[in-house]
Amino acid sequence: MVAGMSVPIAADTAGRQTAFVGPIILLGAPGAGKGTQAQLIAERYGIPQISTGDILRSNVSRGTELGKKAKAVMDRGELVSDELVCGMVADRLQQPDCARGFILDGFPRTAAQANWLDEFLAARTFGGRHLPPVVISIEVGYNQLLQRLTGRRSCPSDGQIYNIYSHPPKKEGICDLCGSQLIQRPDDKEEVIAKRLEKYQAETLPLVDYYRNQGRLQKLNGELPVEQVTAATFAALVRPEAEK
Ligand code: AMP
Repeated sequence: MVAGMSVPIAADTAGRQTAFVGPIILLGAPGAGKGTQAQLIAERYGIPQISTGDILRSNVSRGTELGKKAKAVMDRGELVSDELVCGMVADRLQQPDCARGFILDGFPRTAAQANWLDEFLAARTFGGRHLPPVVISIEVGYNQLLQRLTGRRSCPSDGQIYNIYSHPPKKEGICDLCGSQLIQRPDDKEEVIAKRLEKYQAETLPLVDYYRNQGRLQKLNGELPVEQVTAATFAALVRPEAEK
C-alpha cells in the first residue's frame, strides 16, 4: 500500500484480491506509459491487462487471419478498423479472467470504439452490479513521447520493456531477465512514430473530452517519476462510495 493512500477498490483490508474492480480504461498517447501502469495495476489487483496492441502483435506473429489483415496497417502507424478491434476485444472480455474487472490499455482509440464499449459495458455486470469504467488519462508532452518511443526496446520472450535513454538494460541489446536479444518494434521507427502521434491527436485525443463530459475522466501527469505516476494511478482507482 502506498503511504497515505485511501482504501483501493479491489483489495479488501487484508489485501486479498477478491473484490470486483470493474473496468479500468487507460488513455494516453503512444509512449505515455499506459502499458507500464497497466502491468502494475494487473499485478496489484489480479485482473488482466488487455492491450489491443499486444493482442494484434501476437496475431501478426502467429500469422492468423486477423494478423494478416492488421499487419500492413500497423506497420504504417495507422489504426486497425473499429470492426476488427471491437470484435477482438469482445472475444477477450468474455474470458473468465475478466469476471472481476480488466484494464484496457490502448482501447478505445476512436469515438466508434468508445460508443461500442459504452454499450458493451451497459450490458455487463461485475458480481451482479453495473460498474462504470474508471478512466485515467496519462498526459505526456510531445518531445518526451518522441524520446520514449524512439528509445523503446522490448524483449520478445518475456515482454520486458527498456529504454536506451532512461532505463537501459545492463548489457546493451540484451534482456536483463532472460538474456534474449532485445528488439525495436517496427512501428517505433521515427517515420512511423510521427504517423502514430498524428492518429492519436486526430482520433484518440477527442476521447478525453468524451469521458470528461461523462464526468469520468481523471488526468495524471505522466512525466513524473514512474513511482509517483503509479501512486497517482492507484489513488485514481478508488471508486466513489456509491460505486463500490
Ligand atoms: P500500441 O501497442 O497500443 O501502440 O498499438 C500498436 C498498433 O496497433 C497501433 O498503432 C494500431 O495500428 C494498432 N492498434 C492497437 N490498438 C488499437 C485500437 N484500439 N484501434 C485501432 N488500432 C489499434
